[in-house]
Amino acid sequence: METVKCSKCGKGEDAVRLIEYRYQGKKEYVCVRCLPVFVHGG
Ligand SMILES: [Zn+2]
Repeated sequence: METVKCSKCGKGEDAVRLIEYRYQGKKEYVCVRCLPVFVHGG
């Protein structure tokens, strides 16, 4: 089974809520805690 974890902090879906997105043809995930940083280009 695919390991789902935040691409920023590496936390898994058991610890945080993750949001799926696509980048350069790949499916990646970012958690809600990293999302504000992610959106603002951090
Ligand atoms: Zn994160």
